[in-house]
Amino acid sequence: MKRLGPGAAIRIDVYTAMTKDATRLKRIGVLALQGAFVEHMALLRRLDVEAFPIRLPRELEGLDGLVIPGGESTTIARLMREYDLITPLRRLAKEGFPIMGTCAGMILLAKQVSAMNVEPLGVMDIEVRRNAFGRQVDSFETDLEIPAIGEPPFHGVFIRAPFITRAGDGVEVMSRLSDGTGVAARQGNMLALAFHPELTDDLRLHNYFLSMVVGQR
Ligand code: GLN
Repeated sequence: MKRLGPGAAIRIDVYTAMTKDATRLKRIGVLALQGAFVEHMALLRRLDVEAFPIRLPRELEGLDGLVIPGGESTTIARLMREYDLITPLRRLAKEGFPIMGTCAGMILLAKQVSAMNVEPLGVMDIEVRRNAFGRQVDSFETDLEIPAIGEPPFHGVFIRAPFITRAGDGVEVMSRLSDGTGVAARQGNMLALAFHPELTDDLRLHNYFLSMVVGQR
């Protein structure tokens, strides 16, 4: 994984310190049915928030935000149904509860998904394609320009990733690959990323999400 230079690290620390007081001890759930939830919890704890694994509807109570991690979207969707999480999650999203979905999590937030035989939550007005980069480039890493978090570029780790094929009017596409492909988007309090920020040492996107949680962005 690419290391950031010392100058970059300082800028990131300053950025992190700005929101840290406000976000301290916020309660963030990480959907823990399948996939990369442990990594998200570890990263959130480095930002001084409380991170909880979520499996049951009642565990959603009292949270300030939720992360839906990467993994296998069809499996997560099936388990969400089995655990009766679909209705409460749809209701929370409608009420403006902050949710960040990464990779499979992005797929689950989307209104339409090509090549998926289970229903996503459908709470964000984006259409995504699963495993969109094809077999040859199953997984890759690339630096992403994300103006909302400033410089330096964010190191994007893409693993059998989706991309955005359509974004509705209320959706801000926050980052694109050099060919214009949308890989990060925000709509209201929902943030969808096609890649895996929890697999890097860069806290800026989790920090950005926390600033949404406290209403600073
Ligand atoms: N390919 C997976 C899916 O379609 C997503 C991969 C990931 O989350 N890393 O669900």
